Amino acid sequence: MSFTVINNPSTTPSSLFIPPRTVESGDALALLSDRQFHVAGRNMSVEASLIETAAGGAILVGDDAVAKVASIRAANPNLALVVEPRALRKHLATDAQPFQLSAATLGGDLDRQRMYSDLAITPTGQIRAGDSAALKAALREANKLDRTDTLFAIPAFAGWLSEPHYVKQLIAVINHSKHPLLLTFIDGHNPVGSMKRAHAYRRVFQEASVPVVAHRADLIGFDALAHGAIASAIGSYPTTRRLNPFDHRGGGVSDPEDMSPHMLLPDMLRIVRSTHMRREWFASVTPIQCFCVICRGADVDRLHEDETERRIGHNHNVVNLDSLYSSYVGLNTAGRRALWADQVQGALDTYPQLEAHLGRSLVVDSILEKVWAKAS
Ligand SMILES: [Zn+2]
Repeated sequence: MSFTVINNPSTTPSSLFIPPRTVESGDALALLSDRQFHVAGRNMSVEASLIETAAGGAILVGDDAVAKVASIRAANPNLALVVEPRALRKHLATDAQPFQLSAATLGGDLDRQRMYSDLAITPTGQIRAGDSAALKAALREANKLDRTDTLFAIPAFAGWLSEPHYVKQLIAVINHSKHPLLLTFIDGHNPVGSMKRAHAYRRVFQEASVPVVAHRADLIGFDALAHGAIASAIGSYPTTRRLNPFDHRGGGVSDPEDMSPHMLLPDMLRIVRSTHMRREWFASVTPIQCFCVICRGADVDRLHEDETERRIGHNHNVVNLDSLYSSYVGLNTAGRRALWADQVQGALDTYPQLEAHLGRSLVVDSILEKVWAKAS
């Protein structure tokens, strides 16, 4: 039992022993296989220490990732560590300048990354919806490379998922790549939040004939995994589960309650803000208790107000993501799809469990009910 009140038997962590493995540094396909990646930002040093090294890895993001990676590696020598280039966050791709290079050539940039990162990632800028000239320019340059340690990054504005002919173009470019892909979507809120985009997202992974990583995903990363993604990379807080537009300006935090973390509830396949649970769910009934190694039986809605509490919530997310992934290790795509279908059904079943506890009805998450629960 991971939580009181709700129970999804299909998300019970696997108790199978996963043999230790060395980090397949420089071998993209080997390193990506059978690992759950964590997108780690502000709390990267602590989060890295919590990750299951035999079945996981970290993609470090943010301005200080390059400065911190050496100490994180020294503290966690068996952990796969990949650093996301700044270009994905801060550069706008054009057909003349699809990349933001830190060296004279693309190859030189990737070599430089390999001094600290287990894999290199093309420093592709953000690609505006429908800008196929920029997308194809990036593909053309990446395909000139002859190396096995590189991921071709496509940071694409979420509008690429809104039009069927854009989706088709995107899939065509992916399928012409010589390299595995790191695919991520850009939006100031949730890039894949609508049912239309969630369907399109699944279609990309279903139709891709090249290995693709679902990068900066939320739990939709598991839907991608069930439909052909080689791996997914999921973050512990909202801005690690998307890319903000390159010219985005973040607002300050005025209400301390805004510091309340979003908590992963694997049984529900849902990430819910602590404040929402405290105010909307458990204002007058006993809260759900969590028995993960971080919470150890404490109320799941207890965290709010300051950065320390927020990080405890993010640590809960890291260990619960590894627990959720544990039963995927070693499965092929058909096995992953069957497991995901069972987990989705189990997640739908947690709603009546929670409703009985609360004494009122709840709105079922529409992507769970109308996208993930449908076979395609
Ligand atoms: Zn917990």
